[in-house]
Order: sequence, then structure tokens, then C-alpha cells
Amino acid sequence: KNLGVNEIREMYLSFFRSKDHYSRSSFSLVPENDKSLLLINAGMAPMKNYFMGIETPPNKRMATCQKCVRTGDIENVGKTARHATFFEMLGNFSFGDYFKKEAIAWAWEFVTKDLELNPDDLWVTVYLEDDEAFDIWEKDINVPKERIVRLGKEDNFWEIGTGTGPCGPCSEIYIDRGKEFGCSDPDCKPGCDCDRFLEFWNLVFTQFNKDEDGNYNPLPNPNIDTGMGLERMACIMQGVDSIFDIDTMKSIRDNVCELSGKEYGKSTETDVSIRLITDHSRAVTFLISDGVLPSNEGRGYVLRRLIRRAARHGRLLGIKNNFLVKLMETVIENYGEAYLDLVEKKEYIKKILTVEEEKFSETLDQGMVILKEYMDKIKSESKAVLSGEDAFRLYDTYGFPIELTFEIVEEYGLKVDEDGFKAEMQKQKERARSARTDKGVEGWKETADTLTFSIEKNEFIGYDELETSAQI
Ligand code: ATP
Ligand code: MG
Ligand code: MG
Ligand code: MG
Repeated sequence: KNLGVNEIREMYLSFFRSKDHYSRSSFSLVPENDKSLLLINAGMAPMKNYFMGIETPPNKRMATCQKCVRTGDIENVGKTARHATFFEMLGNFSFGDYFKKEAIAWAWEFVTKDLELNPDDLWVTVYLEDDEAFDIWEKDINVPKERIVRLGKEDNFWEIGTGTGPCGPCSEIYIDRGKEFGCSDPDCKPGCDCDRFLEFWNLVFTQFNKDEDGNYNPLPNPNIDTGMGLERMACIMQGVDSIFDIDTMKSIRDNVCELSGKEYGKSTETDVSIRLITDHSRAVTFLISDGVLPSNEGRGYVLRRLIRRAARHGRLLGIKNNFLVKLMETVIENYGEAYLDLVEKKEYIKKILTVEEEKFSETLDQGMVILKEYMDKIKSESKAVLSGEDAFRLYDTYGFPIELTFEIVEEYGLKVDEDGFKAEMQKQKERARSARTDKGVEGWKETADTLTFSIEKNEFIGYDELETSAQI
């Protein structure tokens, strides 16, 4: 069945309404009263309090289509067929009501009956020790046991980092897209990193409460939390290679091609840039509509970084003028029906984007010239490393984003002296610290370590420390 993004979203919610779920529109991308999270990254995230019993949900069964941002996936975007920074997660939830049996049966019913996927193409995974889930899949649903894969904790057990609280095993549904998508491993199966088995739905069985001593105590009323990637499902239903080929994304992608005069599918490098811009322009439109403003910290920095990356890749494609506003219009054409506020806030989003992109263009032009000089000099001296001092000067004096320096220097086949850069950063911090103790210097107060950042763990790997100082 060839179904559009908007149709799948509606089918999903109406399916779960028919199973007595209360459905509601997406919560904001900006978490409310939750300091542990920078941006909503899963359907369950804005409902944490319902799961913990701190707040009472409007209904014990709920279903949503939640806007999500996963900055941890930023390096994958454009490179894999399945990762976006912004995506929509369809989810059905049980707060101490139904459990594994129903969650599994309904997921199966929806994908095989409503979406008419061929059961022979589907694989499932369960947590190593979760015999209960294994038996439901095998005996109730009749999935052949060869296609039920047991996976370990990294893949199939959900808990909040090392923290305490509700947690439990999960079970994922994959589709086999065929050998032509796969790797050379003859035993390739779900869990492999190649594009053959596409994970599209994760069913989490929140059945334990982890205590301070690390014990997993069974919860009296276990919960269900599921997440299905809307883009991934659209990719499956539309029979296309990647999430960048689905109806909504393709409109944006086509627009990127139009603006740059580049054709999609001709060169890997160009394609990565096209996909990256497609993704980022959608993400920034939604982030701004949810009230995020570009800044040098926290979620404002995520937004700024996405805008800057998109702008820079636009240049790599040869786009001369500012273009993000044009893409924003295409995003809104495609998503305005499902997200009315995008239409209402269009002028506002436009204003923010325009200012930020212009500002960045100036910084970028200037910084590129200087960086190019540095690199030419290095090459003429037959060296291979950009010094920490130079990298720091670009960043500190010219405001050139350090992650760009890393990216560009690498593209030129050179390296940045990372330790040297960190050392410069450290010196800067110390200067700031001593300046703070000097009462005469106002305005230094809110530097580096007084600003607390809650950027999710593992994201912006390698640059964490640098970012904390971006305010300086
Ligand atoms: P993957 O292993 O492919 O990175 P995941 O296991 O991290 O996915 P979950 O945390 O289980 O993903 O999220 C539930 C669902 O949300 C996934 O099954 C997938 O359909 C979708 N999803 C997760 N991350 C992304 C992303 N970056 N872009 C688009 N969809 C995503
Ligand atoms: Mg992931
Ligand atoms: Mg996974
Ligand atoms: Mg998963």
C-alpha cells in the first residue's frame, strides 16, 4: 500500500483510538518541568510523570505522534538511510493497564492488517531473558522462531542511563528489505548495522523499578511504551530506499536540488549534503516553532548548530544566497496540515531564520578565508596539523564554530591539534576565572563553568567541553 506520511499518522492514531486509547497532538519539543532533558527525544519523554505515577494521565491508554529531536544521531544524518535529527514518533502507551500480550498483538495487527505488510518479511527481537515476550511472538502470533532474535542489554533493555526508576526489556520489529540492501555477512540479521533489516517499532515493557542498590524490583502495574518512527514506516510503505525519499522529505529534498542546481543520486558527497540540509531545515523549522531561539547554550545551541551546518552544506553545494527560509516554506507546505501552528508562526520563524543565517554568513565568509590561509600555509610547509592556537584564534576572535574547523580541516586531509586546542580553551577558562574574581570586570560572570549545560550524554562527542565554553 502506498501511503503518505499524513495518512500513516492518521491511520495509526485512529487504530489505537479503536482500541480505547485517548489520542492527543504532539507535546512541544521543549520539555516542561524536566531539567534532565534538553529536547524531547521519544514519545514517552513528555509523559515521564505518568509513568512514574507523579501525575495522573487523562486516560490509562494513550496514543500520540510526538515530535522528537535526537542530536545524538547528528553524525548519522545524511549517511544512513534511517536517521534524522528531527523525526516523528508514533506511540501507544499503557499506564498500568494492558501489557505485553496486547501491545504485541496490536502492533502486529496494525502492521499486517491495516498496513498490509507481508508477515514473511518481518523479524522481531526480544531481550535475552524475556521468555514471556518470546512465547507471545512464537505461540500467539505465530512468528517462526528463526525470525525471533534474542539481543542483549544494549539493544533490548530500556533504562535511564545508570539511573534509578522504571525500566524493562523491549522487543523490536524489523523488516527485511532484501539482500540487495545488506552486507556481505551470510548470517546478517536484525542487530546488524547494515541497511538490510530496518528497525521500525520498539515496544518497551516497563516492568521493573530499579532501586539505589541496582535491584530490579517488579512493578505492581507494569507499563507499555512503544515508539514507531513515522518516517521509517513511510519509507517501508512507499517502497523507497531511505527516509529522504518519502513524500514529505522528497519535496524538501527536491527544493534543495532546485536551489543548488544539483541532481540527487549523482555523487555520494553531494547526496550527503542534500540529505543533511533536507533534515536540518525541517528540524530548525520545528524547533523555532516550539519557541527555541538560537543561542550559545543548551537547546538554543542545538538550533544554532543545525542552522550553521545546513548553511555551510548549502555553500558546499554552491548555493550563493541565504536559502533556509525558502526551505522552511516547503517544510510548512508539507507539515502545516498536521501542525497548524507552523502556519500560524510562519512569519515569526522566517524572521528568526533570516537573522541567524545572515549573521552566520558573515562569520563564515570571514572565517573561511582565514582558515584557508592557515591551511595553505600548513600545506606549503608540508605539515599536516593545524595548531591549537590557530584553531582557538578562529574560534575565539572570529567566532568561527570549532566543529566546523574540525570538519573542514579533515576534508582537506589535515588534522587539528585537539589537545593544543583544549589547552588554549583551558587557559581561556582560567583567564575568565581570574577576571571574575576581579570585581572590576563585570560581564564575565556568566562564563564557562557557571553556566550549567544539560546537553544529553554522548552527543557532540569530543566537543562537550568546548561547548560549555562557547559563551565566552
Ligand atoms: P536505531 O537503532 O535505528 O538508531 P533506536 O533503537 O535508537 O533506532 P528507539 O530508541 O528504539 O530507536 O526509537 C523508537 C523508534 O523511533 C525506532 O524504532 C525508529 O523507528 C525511530 N527512530 C529512532 N531514531 C530515529 C532517528 N534518528 N530518525 C528517525 N527515526 C528514528
Ligand atoms: Mg538510535
Ligand atoms: Mg535500535
Ligand atoms: Mg530501538
